[in-house]
Amino acid sequence: MEVTKINQATRVFKIGEIETKALRGVDLSVTDGEFTALVGPSGSGKTTLLQLIGLLDQPTSGSVFINGQDATNLNRNQRADLRKSAIGFVFQFFALIPTLTAYENVEMPLLLNNTKPADRKKRVNEMLEAVGLADRGHHRPDQLSGGQQQRVAVARALATNPKLILADEPTANLDSENGKQVMDIMQRLNKETGVTFVFATHDPRVIGYANRVVTLEDGLITKDSKNGKH
Ligand code: ADP
Ligand code: MG
Repeated sequence: MEVTKINQATRVFKIGEIETKALRGVDLSVTDGEFTALVGPSGSGKTTLLQLIGLLDQPTSGSVFINGQDATNLNRNQRADLRKSAIGFVFQFFALIPTLTAYENVEMPLLLNNTKPADRKKRVNEMLEAVGLADRGHHRPDQLSGGQQQRVAVARALATNPKLILADEPTANLDSENGKQVMDIMQRLNKETGVTFVFATHDPRVIGYANRVVTLEDGLITKDSKNGKH
């Protein structure tokens, strides 16, 4: 089953007279259970592609499918609904809500999708446990290390059980030990629950975790290798 499929996607940004072709015609199909790295030099279009897959942005031309559903022509609210049910995000700068505790940050997507209080509590505790932070639920982000904050973000991304997690440079602001912890947790969750991960990175250690490596250069996929064969 394809969790996402991108057909001939282009994305052109216009600022005044200047046009940037961030994506020039990308085809990508990601199936259930993949742990895929998106690599390529800075400016090659990794973030733009993740934003299209994540329905945070729309292609200039081409189409985007999520779980078999054509999302290309959905309106803003329909896209937001599909995103909420199908996709979780992990960002480079963690993007936790600073005034909320770790517990409350993980709870947020469950409040937004109207999960019942008892189920919510069970799920938040389960997820904090899964990322090794059962004892940190009452801490605010500024009372946690960068690695712990990113683990809270991973727990939040997975709280509603989406099939697809998109992570944009998830270890870029972590030292190697914390980066390894975050990647180990993501890999374990992928193996245990089958949740699909697509992550942009240029950290060779992170690329080593992937079972598929897709290379972007100048807005085009130039290489796509599976099972560590590059
Ligand atoms: P990467 O994540 O691989 O570093 P990006 O997807 O962020 O690359 O950017 C691809 C290209 O698109 C770059 O040339 C970048 O400057 C440009 N770009 C990205 N986002 C915007 C934007 N919102 N407005 C204008 N140009 C953008
Ligand atoms: Mg980027």
